[in-house]
Amino acid sequence: MITSCIPVKWLAIALICDLLSIIRSRIGAPMLVAMSLALMLDSSGAMAAVHGTTSWAVLRCQLKNTPKPTFESMYAKDPEQFYSDFFTKAGEGKGGLYDYWGQISDGNISLKGSKVFPWVNLNVTYNGDPKRDRGHQVQDCIDATEKYLAHKHLTGKQYDLSHYYGLFILQNRPGGEFGSIQSVQINGKSYSKGVVFFEFGSLDLSHAAHEMGHGYGLDHAFDDAQKGGCGGGGPGEYCDPWDPMGNPFWTVVTWFTNPSFGTATCCGPAAQSSEQSSAGPGLNVPNLLHLGWIPSGRIATYTIGDPATSFTLNALSHPNSSGVLAVHIPAIFFTVTVEYRQQDGWDAGIPANVVLLHTYEPSASPYSFLMDQELSSPFPGALLPGQTLTEPDYSITVNGVDPGSGTASVTIGPGSGG
Ligand SMILES: [Zn+2]
Repeated sequence: MITSCIPVKWLAIALICDLLSIIRSRIGAPMLVAMSLALMLDSSGAMAAVHGTTSWAVLRCQLKNTPKPTFESMYAKDPEQFYSDFFTKAGEGKGGLYDYWGQISDGNISLKGSKVFPWVNLNVTYNGDPKRDRGHQVQDCIDATEKYLAHKHLTGKQYDLSHYYGLFILQNRPGGEFGSIQSVQINGKSYSKGVVFFEFGSLDLSHAAHEMGHGYGLDHAFDDAQKGGCGGGGPGEYCDPWDPMGNPFWTVVTWFTNPSFGTATCCGPAAQSSEQSSAGPGLNVPNLLHLGWIPSGRIATYTIGDPATSFTLNALSHPNSSGVLAVHIPAIFFTVTVEYRQQDGWDAGIPANVVLLHTYEPSASPYSFLMDQELSSPFPGALLPGQTLTEPDYSITVNGVDPGSGTASVTIGPGSGG
């Protein structure tokens, strides 16, 4: 089960959409431009920017009379290496979480200093585990770990859980996970921490990215077709398959298999085999902007009313190049973002090289909406080479993509309203 840390506000979304359609139909482009100036997007104004070292303490708690996960292939003889590779700098270059967040953020954050703590015993049975609420599931594991550290006389900065940006809690049980920023008790004091909780059977790189995204303050990604939930949630929720915050139920396959991490079996009477190797995709532009991870110098602007203008977009999976990563089209109350996604890197699993459009509402919650009402086929929200989308205020054509250079050429110009 995957859940949001932020309540669904779909009724508010519907009202905003209705309001916008009325405004769009009643005022002209010059007025829209004037009103948009106050809403110009600047990555420095992102709502929840996260920068620097964000180390995570990985706590592992073992339920009573329940075996730990067992690994196949490369980690069968050395399970501890799995945890190090999956979570910490020890796995650098293998495509674990250390690589994911460092590369997706274009170096804006690092998981350096993350540490895997020993398995500790929990005074909770397998059947008793799901009877606890989430707060107790988290706090019980923190308390058990601190008890162990005290018993072993392990002290110093690396053993001080309050020192870490976040706590990633694992239990030896199939199924279930959640993530949020929440208050926890550490050594008798309250701290606000990024918190992720996984029953081991649900653990893979894609879902870990989703829940850690909540730990960095991200909300779920929605669509603007307002579908009736894509595997859960309210209208539009989870309906952006191009982002880990929007596609946990894989309505469109956008993940790939990273053979570095293989499979494991976990745990107890309902033990099941699970794949820890599912990885990707990368974050969409609204989420990258929300975390302050696209420098303003790499965002181009098309202002409604301007003549047709061509832009070269770099694929988000190539953030280390120097070109434009997003075009934004300021509109009233929100901005339209344009991004290019190429089938490589963390986007190796997406079904085609595509240009995506989102509406981003930086001060709203939720704030990211895939424009799939306008672009529904063959892939939701995707504009393919040669295709044009014409809206009242603007039009956009994908002139072509060049996988070799990792770029797409788009032309944005006046819409059907002139
Ligand atoms: Zn979620």
